[in-house]
Amino acid sequence: NVTDFDVPTRPEEFDWYGTPLVRFVDIGCGFGGLLVKLSTIYPDTLMLGMEIRDKVSAYVRERIAALRREHPGSYRNASVLRTNAMKYLPNYFKKGQLTKMFFLFPDPHFKAANHRRRIINSHLLTEYAHLLAPGGWLYTISDVPELGEWMVAKLDAHPLFERVSEEELESDPAAGLLATSSEEGQKVARNGGATFRNVYRRLPTPRGL
Ligand code: SAM
Repeated sequence: NVTDFDVPTRPEEFDWYGTPLVRFVDIGCGFGGLLVKLSTIYPDTLMLGMEIRDKVSAYVRERIAALRREHPGSYRNASVLRTNAMKYLPNYFKKGQLTKMFFLFPDPHFKAANHRRRIINSHLLTEYAHLLAPGGWLYTISDVPELGEWMVAKLDAHPLFERVSEEELESDPAAGLLATSSEEGQKVARNGGATFRNVYRRLPTPRGL
C-alpha cells in the first residue's frame, strides 16, 4: 500500500483556500477608532473589530465602507463583527492564529459581584493565550486605576503571559495608538484623565516549566 501523495496529519496543515487569516482583533472595539488607524499602519494584516452593540457595530461597518469608497484600495484589511467576544471567540479563530489582541478601555464593572463580567479574567486569559500565537501581544489600557491594577494582577499571575517592557513598547507602532486612537481614549484625553497601559506577551511555554 504505497501512498505517493501527501496527506495532512491535521486540518490546520492543509491550506484550503490560501485566504489569509485574521491576525489582529480589537475586542469591544466601540466606534472603531483604533481599527481604522491600525488598518493603514498594517496594510497587509487582516484585522477584525468585535462589538456586542448592534448599532455600534453597524456604525463601524458603515465607517469602514465609507473609508473604502473615499480611499480606493485602502481599508480592505479591516472589518467588524457583532458578537459577544466573551462567549464566542473560539468559534471564530483557531489556536495560535492571532498575533495581537487589543482591549481598550473595557467596561469596569465596579461592583465585586460583577467582577466575573470583566473581559480580562483568569479563565478568559487562558482562552486568549490559546488563540494567540507564541510571542503574540495582548494590549490593555484603562483610565480606571482599579481596573488597570486588576488586569495587571490577572496577567502577572497567568503562567502564559509576561509583561512587555516600556522600552519594547516604544518601538511598537500599535502601542503608541492605545491612549488616543479610540473614541473612549479621546474622551479621557479631552477630560485630562490619566491612563494605564499594560501590554503582555504570550509565552511559548508556561512560565516556571
Ligand atoms: N474600545 C472602545 C474604545 O476604546 O473606544 C470602546 C470602549 S467601551 C467603554 C467598551 C465596549 O465594549 C463597548 O462598546 C461595549 O459594547 C463593548 N463590549 C462589552 N462587552 C462586550 C462583549 N462581551 N463582546 C463584545 N463587545 C463588548
